[in-house]
Amino acid sequence: MINPFSKLGISDDVVNAVKDLGFENPTPIQEQSIPVLLEGNNDFVGLAQTGTGKTAAFGLPLLELIDFKSNKPQALILCPTRELCLQITSDIKNFSKNISGANVVAVYGGANIMQQLREIRNGVQIVVATPGRMLDIIGRKAIDFSNVKFVVLDEADEMLNMGFQEDINDILSTTPDDKKTWLFSATMPPEVRRIAKNYMDQPVELTMGTKNTGNVNIEHEYYIVRARDKYAALKRIVDFNPEIFAVVFCKTKLDTQDVAEHLIKDGYNADALHGDLSQQQRDKVMQRFRDRNMQLLIATDVAARGIDVNNVTHVINYSLPDEIESYTHRSGRTGRAGKTGISICIVNSKEIGKIRQIERIIGKQFTKAELPTGFDVCEKQLFALVHKVHNVEVNENQIEQYMPRIMDEFAELSKDEVIKRFASLEFNRFLEYYKNAPDLNSSADDRGERGERGERGERSHRGSEGYTRLFINLGSVDDFTRGDLLSFVCNNGKISGKSIGKIDLKGVYSFFEVENATVESLFNNFKGVEFNNRGVRIEKTAESDGGGRSRGGSGGGRREGGSYGGGRREGGGERRSYSGGGGGRREGGNSSGGGGGFRDFSGRSREDRGGRREGGNDRKRRS
Ligand code: AMP
Repeated sequence: MINPFSKLGISDDVVNAVKDLGFENPTPIQEQSIPVLLEGNNDFVGLAQTGTGKTAAFGLPLLELIDFKSNKPQALILCPTRELCLQITSDIKNFSKNISGANVVAVYGGANIMQQLREIRNGVQIVVATPGRMLDIIGRKAIDFSNVKFVVLDEADEMLNMGFQEDINDILSTTPDDKKTWLFSATMPPEVRRIAKNYMDQPVELTMGTKNTGNVNIEHEYYIVRARDKYAALKRIVDFNPEIFAVVFCKTKLDTQDVAEHLIKDGYNADALHGDLSQQQRDKVMQRFRDRNMQLLIATDVAARGIDVNNVTHVINYSLPDEIESYTHRSGRTGRAGKTGISICIVNSKEIGKIRQIERIIGKQFTKAELPTGFDVCEKQLFALVHKVHNVEVNENQIEQYMPRIMDEFAELSKDEVIKRFASLEFNRFLEYYKNAPDLNSSADDRGERGERGERGERSHRGSEGYTRLFINLGSVDDFTRGDLLSFVCNNGKISGKSIGKIDLKGVYSFFEVENATVESLFNNFKGVEFNNRGVRIEKTAESDGGGRSRGGSGGGRREGGSYGGGRREGGGERRSYSGGGGGRREGGNSSGGGGGFRDFSGRSREDRGGRREGGNDRKRRS
């Protein structure tokens, strides 16, 4: 049987390479564009969503059209972000792995330019670049584009959104007039039209799906809640979807950091991605997300651009984007590569109008969904646990030695009793948290929005009353983010994230607040704790000693038991998930629940990560 890619005109070397990647059939966009682009004599405009197989749609024809005997740049691919640049480069390297002499270089900011210049000097046929760094290299006269035959503008709308219009003009002016330009864009605002008009000659235009529509594999839902219940609603959605692997979008860096920190404190495996993080920190966060060592990525629009992670089950719009067009980009992070996905908006009653606007733009209707009740969540979690116990892979060799003792312990209990107790382990914790859980749904005509405490609602600002400020000899030079420091303190101090107040991350040291009642046990648990072979030191700061606020002991107020992620929930009740004696309870797989191997999303994975980092020596030592 002839391979379907061969039928489209792709040569054997490349067909074999894509076969190795598991591509059996072309995606619709590949089927439509490859034959057109292979002709090599047309300008081209492709309206296509991310995650539809766009890279191969232009990458495979490019490989057929380039002369790999020459070592001169013949194709330039411009894209908006470093992440996308690396992704495209890696894809094209994979597609061309059987072509001898094929060279692809990634040119992007925030990395060593000398290395990129060296690769260019050594000879490349395909340059994949972000506009800023490309201009820098052109300015140094370090590249010759006189042989460029093809320019690809990928995610053109995003490049324009990010203000790269002038850079693109300048770059294109250094390429020959007779080159062909291939433009891909998820949306077609007038600015992108203008590029097509100015730089292209009667382009062939293909629309994959309907113009400006979201991916057909994505379902759109919205929940109406009072603004003060947003955070609680987010947690309930997450709790109701035990397999969730999601990107949560916030409008500002501050909100992003804030929501991520609260989720971490509440025991969820989350982290923030925003522009205030260094490139290294962002890479680290993204790597964890890609490896599925993190379940919830809380991101700003800009930071999440170009994220290409498969099997994202949900996109959650914690706040709606200002620019409605951004909604398409946000929701396009799920439903990739033929998978299904759900894009959720958590809105208050005043924002329904915006939902209607988005519906008009994407040409799809949202479903109004009801937040599950506490009971629904408990039931869902219970059966997720039952399912997990049923499917767990037993390590016969390791468990064998303990079986006699385990059987001894359970000797008195019937099979029914044992099962009931195992199931109750998790179920009790959810029951306790959700037993008095309020109905968070708000109706469209609900006017009870006044006097609210801001987006995060139930976890509004907590002052320092009742907290002791502590010094710790770890900080950003140890490559800690605030989230890292929080889990380090929680894991080693064996306290709940809720006992921690403000965290003030400095360079070689940091400050953090802990509830007074927790200070003593924290000090005890930190005895002998080391980080990278260095003793970790915690001290009360002068103001907390002098202020006499630290009551210590078990004096008054609410108290909670157990260690972070391991113990029972406190009275006021945030859920501590991903715990249960340190065992992971999350698994991989996509929204359909099938396939993917089990992954550990437990609190333990954070500790493991810490261990690996230390072992891997990728943290700087304090001198
Ligand atoms: P892209 O839109 O190029 O970012 O591709 C989205 C995802 O789909 C990537 O993970 C690709 O590896 C994958 N992909 C692209 N084309 C195919 C294909 N023909 N068959 C299976 N997977 C594909």
